[in-house]
Amino acid sequence: MHFVAGSCLICDDGLLGFRKSNGLIFLLCDECGSVFLDPSKVVREEAIFPSFKNGWLIPNTEASIAGEKSEWATKDDVDDMEWLPFLMLEIND
Ligand SMILES: [Zn+2]
Repeated sequence: MHFVAGSCLICDDGLLGFRKSNGLIFLLCDECGSVFLDPSKVVREEAIFPSFKNGWLIPNTEASIAGEKSEWATKDDVDDMEWLPFLMLEIND
């Protein structure tokens, strides 16, 4: 199961899931891989696109969108980070 804040405004196809890596919570589109670090600023200008070339690292962080140190956030994570107001959907993987 993972938790979603809404649909992606970059690709219009994917869903923005709450993801965590190295203690950082962020939103990740499951289709185009765009990342948003602030759930209150999900706008085109704030989208980040980590690349394979950089090991999927989010620039200026220790967090990665893929690999063994990256996973979907749990409900507790979402609660803890006070991202709860942005929670829209629960998806059964
Ligand atoms: Zn997308």
